[in-house]
Amino acid sequence: MFPHDLLFLSELLIFFVVGLSIGSFLNVCSFRIATGESIVRPASRCPSCKTPLATLDNIPVLSYLLLRGRCRYCKIGISPEYPIIELLMGVLCASTAIAVGLDLRMLRIEPMLPRIVESLMFLSLCFFAVLIAAIDRHTGLVPDCVSLPGIVCGFTLSTLLWATGGCAKLGRFLPSPFARSPLESLVGLIVGGGFFLAIVLVSRGRMMGGGDIRIGALLGVYMGWQLALLSVLIASVAGTLCYLPALVRGRVGRRTEIRFGPLLSFGAIVSLFLGKSLIEWYLGML
Ligand SMILES: [Zn+2]
Repeated sequence: MFPHDLLFLSELLIFFVVGLSIGSFLNVCSFRIATGESIVRPASRCPSCKTPLATLDNIPVLSYLLLRGRCRYCKIGISPEYPIIELLMGVLCASTAIAVGLDLRMLRIEPMLPRIVESLMFLSLCFFAVLIAAIDRHTGLVPDCVSLPGIVCGFTLSTLLWATGGCAKLGRFLPSPFARSPLESLVGLIVGGGFFLAIVLVSRGRMMGGGDIRIGALLGVYMGWQLALLSVLIASVAGTLCYLPALVRGRVGRRTEIRFGPLLSFGAIVSLFLGKSLIEWYLGML
């Protein structure tokens, strides 16, 4: 193995570990927002027995494995969702480093600022998407305290990316998935949100809700209208595949409530990393 490979692997590992901690923070946010508690206080504690957790019980993934999925104090099972979300954020963070082409040697080669802004856009959009999916899965709601800061964050970062010169090409091979100007970002917000608003109006709120409008706007503000709509398309295909077995067995009726939030988050993450390549590939086929 070349020293360069070792350097690259150790960089990836650093990003993976940072992602694990972001996932751990995301778990705190999702649990506390779903139960209406403050994110900041009190310090982490067991949801069942409320015993404050020691640092050793708070290490992402590792603590779950060491404690064999049970609270050290009351022995109540801890949901596997926690380590899964931590791992997911770890993988997404390492993928971001690969997609953006973050490489410590680049510090001298090219302006780093647009790369850093772009990495923040990747990470924050992944964070909001996974947080929305987790909260929606538990409560069936997408709270404004997540979607609205997400929209503001997306607009601020895309304006910053435009102001710092932006990146037309990510890393070495991927086209950038983000809106390239504040105007493109605003158009994305209107088209992404408007698409769901139209469905809400036509179905009189039976198929989608206000939460979906805000997720659509959030995706549009980050990625522009094309990738926002591609996210919806991927979510619909994924949803059909997920519910198909139940549909065939007649277990899904008109009244079955299908949670679109987690599907849309999935569509958004696929679009974020592969959307532009998928569109280019599709246009090349025509
Ligand atoms: Zn406990």
